Amino acid sequence: MSFSHLGLSNEIIRAVTELGYTKPTPIQMQAIPAVLSGRDLLAGAQTGTGKTASFTLPLLQKLSSEKSLKSTSDECFPIRALILTPTRELAAQVELSVREYGKYLKLNTMAMFGGVSINPQKKLLRGRVDILVATPGRLLDHVQQRTVNLSNVEFLVLDEADRMLDMGFIRDIRRILSLLPKQRQNLLFFATFSDKIKELATGLLDNPEMIEV
Ligand code: AMP
Repeated sequence: MSFSHLGLSNEIIRAVTELGYTKPTPIQMQAIPAVLSGRDLLAGAQTGTGKTASFTLPLLQKLSSEKSLKSTSDECFPIRALILTPTRELAAQVELSVREYGKYLKLNTMAMFGGVSINPQKKLLRGRVDILVATPGRLLDHVQQRTVNLSNVEFLVLDEADRMLDMGFIRDIRRILSLLPKQRQNLLFFATFSDKIKELATGLLDNPEMIEV
């Protein structure tokens, strides 16, 4: 099984080949076709399994091959994919991966997290952002200040959702979910399953493909 068997474009395959990836990892083999098919996903995977690429590669493929749903009359560019992470370190790391995997595509990515000045983030948000990687608290700061618009998000990823719940982010997550369009694809990743994850998944996911590696 190779990346091209999974239906990924030449631009994406070129980027991962340059990173030294020769074949997809088990989670990538399962998640990539599911995400490409448009299904919601509930995936259990530890760090180190290649989980970041398992959601990023098909997202990049969909974003680069499908037109934005937003009407062209609007002046500002819509955020089309939102990836939520529990920590700023993970947000920065995921954003770097998205940039690397998408280096041959014309998509713009931004990381947003607390503990740093908010003003440079506001400036970036005035430009084009297709993919936003954010921690929940700082994202809500921007929502409150009306510097971010989530009304065109087509893809939502909750990365390390169990850690977000352990850190007490459930209310922030619910508030963010309430700001997103109903029609969207949802991907939920966790390391350890729990009743809380089950509850979140039940409310969030529509007939999800379930994967555990
Ligand atoms: P992750 O689980 O997303 O944190 O990825 C763990 C590490 O595996 C990262 O250093 C990735 O660059 C690397 N990686 C991801 N997918 C592959 C692959 N298909 N082949 C080789 N390395 C990979």
